[in-house]
Amino acid sequence: MACDTTLYLVVPCYNEEEALPETIRQLSQTLQELVDAGKAGEGSRMLFVDDGSRDNTWEVITRAAGENQRVCGVKLAHNRGHQNALLAGLMTAKEKADCAISLDADLQDDISVLGEFMDKYHGGCDIVYGVRSSRKTDTAFKRNTAGGFYSLMKRLGVEMVSNHADYRLMSRRALEALSDYREVNLFLRGIVPQIGYPQDVVYYERKERMAGESKYPLKKMIGFAMEGVTSFSVKPLKLISNFGIFISILSILGLLYALVSFLAGVAVPGWTAIVCSIFLLGGIQLFCLGVVGTYVGKIYSEVKSRPRFHIETETMQGTERGRKAHPLGAPSGF
Ligand code: UDP
Ligand code: MG
Repeated sequence: MACDTTLYLVVPCYNEEEALPETIRQLSQTLQELVDAGKAGEGSRMLFVDDGSRDNTWEVITRAAGENQRVCGVKLAHNRGHQNALLAGLMTAKEKADCAISLDADLQDDISVLGEFMDKYHGGCDIVYGVRSSRKTDTAFKRNTAGGFYSLMKRLGVEMVSNHADYRLMSRRALEALSDYREVNLFLRGIVPQIGYPQDVVYYERKERMAGESKYPLKKMIGFAMEGVTSFSVKPLKLISNFGIFISILSILGLLYALVSFLAGVAVPGWTAIVCSIFLLGGIQLFCLGVVGTYVGKIYSEVKSRPRFHIETETMQGTERGRKAHPLGAPSGF
């Protein structure tokens, strides 16, 4: 049973010379199994994105490409970070593939579930999220901070799939929709759920890193979390207004207290006026800052000029367009 779905496995790599040879070996074996099982077409490829590595990553990729026709690579001029490298790979794949699956170069994401991703794709899903069934391989610190991060994002009103990193399948039309998001501060995990095409999840167990060391130390992780919050939510700005109102109310109570102390004659002369003005002015200033922040928030959303919708399907003269056209893609609109 031959399959004509071209699948691209997109792998961002930064200083991965130690892990890559084994990754390429295992991935090509798994890809071949998918082709043999009729889940992916002969034209399927592994696309490695060298994110400006300083070691021999690119040499490893070019050598592998010479030996194995399923290996191809793109090299970024500078180290632009995981999210940008991933986007570069996905946008390259969009031109050639019917669907693309992104995964890490250290094979922490279990590649034995790739078949399940393809089953869901053939079943009509445009986006399939790889979700970790447990966080056993993480340190207690990473587990707790990750849990806190997901609940914070939820409270800030950001739609995200919990325990999903960037192990994900996207159909060509989902990739086309993604290319409409023109923001510079990339947080793919927040953007992809906004696309909204039919989606599903595949559960997998995340393993230990195979070789080399993590490129996400604590500092980068905090930066990434901040990026997630500030790229998707203006709630922190609204919090300032609320805090200002709270301080103003508090200052009125303080004012009453200071007046009572003054009348009772227990206050040092001048104290009342100073305390009251500090509180009240502080509250008013914070409130005003919050108001300015609200406008800044609006400018921020406008400047990003994200697409406002993607048309999933359309009925035209009794025929259904869009879903039927899948996986070749349907129009996405502004
Ligand atoms: N990566 C990248 N550019 C960077 C940092 C990381 O392309 O600036 C890649 C890296 O090669 C790996 C993936 O992003 O394929 C995830 O990184 P890592 O495994 O170090 O993160 P962790 O799994 O520890 O969170
Ligand atoms: Mg990793």
